[in-house]
Amino acid sequence: MGISLGGLLALFAALVALVVPAAPPTPPAPPSTHASGSLVGKIVGIDPGHNGRNYTDPSYLNKQVWNGREYEDCDTTGTQTGGGYDEHTFNWAVANYLAQKLRAAGAKVVWTRTSDTGIGPCVDQRARLLNQGHADISIDIHADGGPTSGRGFAILLPVADGPNNRVINASVRFGGYLRSQLLAMTGMPVSTYDGSNGFAYRDDLAGLNLTTEPKVLVECGNMRNATDAALLTSKTWQVKAADAMASAIVKMLAG
Ligand SMILES: [Zn+2]
Repeated sequence: MGISLGGLLALFAALVALVVPAAPPTPPAPPSTHASGSLVGKIVGIDPGHNGRNYTDPSYLNKQVWNGREYEDCDTTGTQTGGGYDEHTFNWAVANYLAQKLRAAGAKVVWTRTSDTGIGPCVDQRARLLNQGHADISIDIHADGGPTSGRGFAILLPVADGPNNRVINASVRFGGYLRSQLLAMTGMPVSTYDGSNGFAYRDDLAGLNLTTEPKVLVECGNMRNATDAALLTSKTWQVKAADAMASAIVKMLAG
């Protein structure tokens, strides 16, 4: 039986395939260099204010701690909305949304507390934990208990007192980024009753007096105001607030 031309061509193609090595497999794409990877090697301190069982130990909360200028209470229970949603719950939720975003961008996160079901630590110890954790930048997350008619967020900024002298300017810059991002991303206005244009300089808070890294304390809104409370208790809004914080941190550390 003779072999057709077509058959010969097919045989030739088969022989070529045996002799010529296949192209090497395409290497996998390198990791994304998107801005979300911009915090690799950075450490961010997160202090979710208060704690879930602070209310069980008033004597612990009343303990006097040195804040760099004067004595202040170890901590408080925090505030709550008219509907009974506790500030510590809000702080903890936003802190965790923020930590997720920061870790996704490559940052390491250091914390002042590891759950929302404990007591403390005191505010001076919270500052030390973040300092000792070598944070490049830190944020204290709170919501306020202001007058029911008052609205909005306030960013509390440090005043030079010795320990924090070298981080005042950077803290104010961080506050500026955070104010811009909160306004752009969350719909929460600047406070109508605290500070000026969303900034309040404070020299009476251990968290700001004792910090050795750039830091702000953000009162994300007024839990006693019904309009703010509707936002503060919404998971969607909490994620937006965490997004705004993460954006401000990226601008500080990767800008
Ligand atoms: Zn608070």
